[in-house]
Amino acid sequence: MSASQRVVVLGAGVLGLSIARELAQSGAQVTVVSAGGVPRTASLRSFSWLNSLSAWPLDYHRLRLRGIAHHRRYAAANAVPWLRFDGSLNWEAGGASASLSGVHAHMLTLEYETRWLKAGEAAALEPALAVAALGDASVLHAPGEGWIDLPAWLAVLEAASVSAGARFVKVEGDASVSTQAGRVNGLRLPDGTLVPADAVVVAAGAATPAVLSPLGAAIPAATNRALLVHARVARPGPKAVLRGPDVAIRTRADGALVLHAEWADDEVRDDGPNRWAVEADVVQDVLARASATLSGCPTLELLDTGIGLRPIPGDHYTVAGAIESVPGVFVAFSHSAATLAPAIAEALAPEVLGQGRDAQLDPFRPSRFSTT
Ligand SMILES: Cc1cc2nc3c(=O)[nH]c(=O)nc-3n(C[C@H](O)[C@H](O)[C@H](O)COP(=O)(O)OP(=O)(O)OC[C@H]3O[C@@H](n4cnc5c(N)ncnc54)[C@H](O)[C@@H]3O)c2cc1C
Repeated sequence: MSASQRVVVLGAGVLGLSIARELAQSGAQVTVVSAGGVPRTASLRSFSWLNSLSAWPLDYHRLRLRGIAHHRRYAAANAVPWLRFDGSLNWEAGGASASLSGVHAHMLTLEYETRWLKAGEAAALEPALAVAALGDASVLHAPGEGWIDLPAWLAVLEAASVSAGARFVKVEGDASVSTQAGRVNGLRLPDGTLVPADAVVVAAGAATPAVLSPLGAAIPAATNRALLVHARVARPGPKAVLRGPDVAIRTRADGALVLHAEWADDEVRDDGPNRWAVEADVVQDVLARASATLSGCPTLELLDTGIGLRPIPGDHYTVAGAIESVPGVFVAFSHSAATLAPAIAEALAPEVLGQGRDAQLDPFRPSRFSTT
């Protein structure tokens, strides 16, 4: 396929927009179709810690590093307040450090910079952190990590895509992939209109398996419900990303805090199609635990609760590449896409344009699932 061919990207989250920008800047005629909106768009309610701090296999770690390197280059070239690399501080309950010790050992083998800090050292490094919250825990410091405010990044990606010629179509309801004689011929909008295309990239977040299923491509999912709490605080928030056993905390560009707690995700319940709910006392508990983590136990004023689905492939690793059984259809489906999207987009766009396959995507192709 030549670069001047027509490509439709389904989904205007961080993955879809990152891919659209790459494709448009490569000369493709790009149309981005998306339903958008907060409840369905994970990228509008993401904690967005930029990291590779886990015992990931080497291939996945390298893909994450490629994403972080992109973000670092952008931060170096553009002094924006919504993309910061001030490290992360990580600790476990009751002074235990068993699982983090394993992570630290693994990180050393990968030469990913991490080091142990005593509680007092961590609080000295990060004055917003309450030393009492740490107890006798050791704190694992990953100085190269950071965070991004995805709504600001999405605006940059959309503007860059538009200035490279991309067209945006906002829809109400579900668009679907259209095929003719066994290969893709475009994207069908909810009103029945066909947007003709030579290739369609499905980057529909949590809806990705449902979009691909009618094509006979079964992508397993472990997607779960998630709660993100935003709160105002009267004093400076932490510079580092704080990840304790009760709650994770980071500061936003405007100084407010973003809070995420795995235990609170379990309290989210379905409340109708594309609707989710959580009890107010769960949100208050998240705020209380965050306050107790911060020095001086500041009052946190609730600004917003973001509730919805967190897109996660069934084996937890990125799914990116061609759907071999339906020529012209490509997929990008991933957790941690705040971190990974620039890498996935850079690797996938040439493949969509028929300019070769990036070997770094080989372990992550949808063909690893037998039904694609
Ligand atoms: C609470 C939470 C915390 C997270 N923390 C981190 C973190 O710390 N670090 C990290 O790297 N990542 C994190 N993530 C993951 C990251 O945010 C997601 O991987 C990423 O946002 C997914 O982006 P996406 O573009 O794939 O999907 P989305 O942002 O969900 O976008 C998909 C879009 O497609 C549209 N769409 C879907 N189907 C259709 C259809 N049929 N027709 C039209 N439009 C359609 C949707 O409306 C939506 O706008 C977190 C996510 C959550 C929810």
